[in-house]
Amino acid sequence: MSVVEALLDLQEVDGRIRELEVELKDLPRRKALENARLSGVSADLAAAQEGLKYAQDRVKSYEDEARELKEKVHQLKLTQSGLKSNKEYQQYSIQIDFVNHDLEVAESNQLAAMDGLPSAERRVADAQARYDQEKGGVDQFAAEIDERIASVKIELEECQAARVEKAKAVKDPKFMLYYERLRMKRWPVVVPLTDPDHVCDGCHMVQPPSVDQLAQANARNAAAEKPQSIVACTMCGRILYKA
Ligand SMILES: [Zn+2]
Repeated sequence: MSVVEALLDLQEVDGRIRELEVELKDLPRRKALENARLSGVSADLAAAQEGLKYAQDRVKSYEDEARELKEKVHQLKLTQSGLKSNKEYQQYSIQIDFVNHDLEVAESNQLAAMDGLPSAERRVADAQARYDQEKGGVDQFAAEIDERIASVKIELEECQAARVEKAKAVKDPKFMLYYERLRMKRWPVVVPLTDPDHVCDGCHMVQPPSVDQLAQANARNAAAEKPQSIVACTMCGRILYKA
């Protein structure tokens, strides 16, 4: 195996490692986005529940008011029945009329408040149904993401172990050093020098004839199992080879 072939093998594993690392970074972000969306749905539900509570409290407070007024009328009538003088009796009748009027107002307010209940209840039911549905989806999605994270981690470990072996197979340390330095800045590092236009397949710059000649010499040396030199793109520095 020529040094370029060994580097291409290594580069293949490194390419997979790069993909897996990107995915590993992206997966928790996707999960967080879904959770953020769900908390929006949950806020809608909380608002609907708050609205229903408010409507129920209103009904309850008119109900309490009506009960108190009824009790008041009852007490007034009790007292009235024990009265002897006509004048006092009539004064009580006037007072009872006033309280009865307040009672009618409280009861009609209660009815009006009750009219608002069904729609408030429907809003809660709708929001709850939507939350339940979304929650089910998000939970399933989160479980799938966790599963994927676990399998990406396993594959990443396998690739890193494979990388150690592939790196050992690159017998020329100067090629290895060059590759390792460049791979942080440029990807891929080892690219073909195309025929017949002598273009770097990484940055697409046309290379001078001398670069093409060196790449051809490398190919000949590789076939003859002789040492090879690094042929680099004059623009981006990638390692070039004749495919
Ligand atoms: Zn280039």
